[in-house]
Amino acid sequence: MKMVLLGPPGAGKGTQAERLSKHLDVPTISTGAIIRNEIKEKTQLGVEAHKYISEGKLVPDSLVISMVKERLSKPDCSKGFILDGFPRTIEQAQTLDSMTDITKVLCIKVKDEEILNRLSGRRECKVCRASYHIMYNKPAKEGICDKCGGELICREDDTVETIKNRIAVYHEQTEPIIQYYASQGKLAVVEGRDDVEDTTKAVFEALDI
Ligand code: ADP
Ligand code: ADP
Ligand code: ZN
Repeated sequence: MKMVLLGPPGAGKGTQAERLSKHLDVPTISTGAIIRNEIKEKTQLGVEAHKYISEGKLVPDSLVISMVKERLSKPDCSKGFILDGFPRTIEQAQTLDSMTDITKVLCIKVKDEEILNRLSGRRECKVCRASYHIMYNKPAKEGICDKCGGELICREDDTVETIKNRIAVYHEQTEPIIQYYASQGKLAVVEGRDDVEDTTKAVFEALDI
């Protein structure tokens, strides 16, 4: 299964990708996580990308596309993968189509008002990048990752101002992709529910798994 997860920031893509990845036994490729890692490592790409990410803008297509190309060529992607956060522009979607055959695209829908709640309470594991929420998806021990014991931190771009920019960018640049995949007959849509488990159930049903 070669899957794309679509949806606004905070829709629950990362949360559901983690569950799908385990169930389907394929890797998740999160462009956001790769970029944040490059920033942490202070690579040239990281330095270049930082100015965009910190303002809630998209990193230029050319940078992100070459990153994904390299990642998809790794052997662990041969039997499938879940793309979380890519493509985010029509150009990225077209380039992806020229690289591989996507099986299915799942879009998780969440209202703009809810996005702010989700992202302002999001905490991310510094080590394994698992996503938590201070109200909706609490770790067993406050501030500590259930999966690896890593420290939970607030992402630099999860501030009110940046979140507003990211929502606007999503509507302008990413939303047109929904129609792009619908016209290919590959699109499934689910409502992002208030509860993580309910959403997972809806996602698995939509994918017939
Ligand atoms: P979220 O979890 O809020 O959807 P991501 O972790 O997927 O956010 O992405 C964080 C940021 O990384 C984006 O706001 C953008 O700056 C950059 N980014 C991630 N994926 C892409 C992409 N496919 N194209 C351009 N920029 C990207
Ligand atoms: P995305 O990758 O789409 O940006 P995340 O998976 O990181 O989204 O989820 C954003 C925030 O919302 C996280 O804090 C996460 O724990 C929380 N969350 C995810 N799914 C749900 C849900 N169905 N109901 C409530 N909160 C959720
Ligand atoms: Zn962790």
